[in-house]
Amino acid sequence: MQTFTEKYDLLGCIQCGRCTGGCPVTVRADLNVRQFVNDAYDEDKLEELAKLAEIWDCTACHTCAVRCPKGLKPLEVLIGLRTMIVESGKVEPTVRDALQSVLLEGNPWEKSRATRSDWMEGLDVRIADPDEPVENLFFVCCTIAYDPRVRAVAQNMVKLLNKAGVDYAFLPEDESCCGSEVLTLGEEGLFEMQVEDNTEYLNEFKAERIVTLSPHCFTTYKTHYPDLKTPVVHYTQLLVDLLNDGKLSWKGELPKKIVYHDPCYLGKQGGIYDEPRELLKSIPGAELVEFERRRERSLCCEGGGGKMWVESESKKERLSDTRIKDAKELGAEIVAVACPFCVLTLEDSMKGLGYEEEMRVAEIMELLGELMET
Ligand code: SF4
Ligand code: SF4
Repeated sequence: MQTFTEKYDLLGCIQCGRCTGGCPVTVRADLNVRQFVNDAYDEDKLEELAKLAEIWDCTACHTCAVRCPKGLKPLEVLIGLRTMIVESGKVEPTVRDALQSVLLEGNPWEKSRATRSDWMEGLDVRIADPDEPVENLFFVCCTIAYDPRVRAVAQNMVKLLNKAGVDYAFLPEDESCCGSEVLTLGEEGLFEMQVEDNTEYLNEFKAERIVTLSPHCFTTYKTHYPDLKTPVVHYTQLLVDLLNDGKLSWKGELPKKIVYHDPCYLGKQGGIYDEPRELLKSIPGAELVEFERRRERSLCCEGGGGKMWVESESKKERLSDTRIKDAKELGAEIVAVACPFCVLTLEDSMKGLGYEEEMRVAEIMELLGELMET
């Protein structure tokens, strides 16, 4: 069995500190990931390190991995320490319930599998069949399927695909969580099981590509599913292709100042920065403005890394609050995102700051959906 040092290549670290220097969470919590990488070398210290509350502050944004000159993934040390806690059974009840829900119902939101496809009600949706070849096989995501706030992402996608005459199919309610949050919460065994089950299930379909609506599913499938036979794309990539082929057009106008927030899982982890911007630029009347901290330097919203189920102990300003204040300073009327978690965290901050009258947070598919209807 590999030691901690071997598993995370700790000897490759030169203690340059770029990981901690780039970590957005350091301004909010006492997280010093370089120190963890340094201390985890001593196997006798691991148990003590795993007890430190800071290991749960990491949002798995991957900035540290992007910045590390030695190609290490410092966040994985923190996740490895979380795994020790998960294996000891001493996790927070919220985390325990989310993990159990994934095991029993295929989603972390404690919802019944039988209701996973309820979002399709009233829509003309083509359902995937393993015997019928399809170009675009859609994977919805647990959050979009169950959370009424972001369901419109999937619903508008169906309307758009029907209108554009695209060959597509959505998975039935057998679709199961990709494991993104399970992995970052440290439940290694459950994640391995998910990879095996989802690979077997998805490989049954004859699709040219799998299209994910959430960047979390996109990155997880691309990075952690080595035996998946079908290539995976994010929906913004598909829509830009459709746009360039002349298959998409908007009826209405949206004369608003829009700023785009790069979701960490789509940008820093997936390398997709241009496609969401191209979609926003295609909106008639819209003016796209940019955050100073954008693309590889984008600020994290703190929604990833299992943080939806872990309360932060820090009383300092939330990064999502900072982001919304930055947007207000830019005069943005819409903060556009391409991730369901970013919608939830940023909208919560926008409401908390009392900016509802002058600003809105919207997933790109929400905006495009409105333009189809007008
Ligand atoms: S950036 Fe990489 S090499 Fe530098 S301290 Fe962090 S883990 Fe070590
Ligand atoms: S993944 Fe993000 S939050 Fe976690 S240690 Fe790295 S930079 Fe910090």
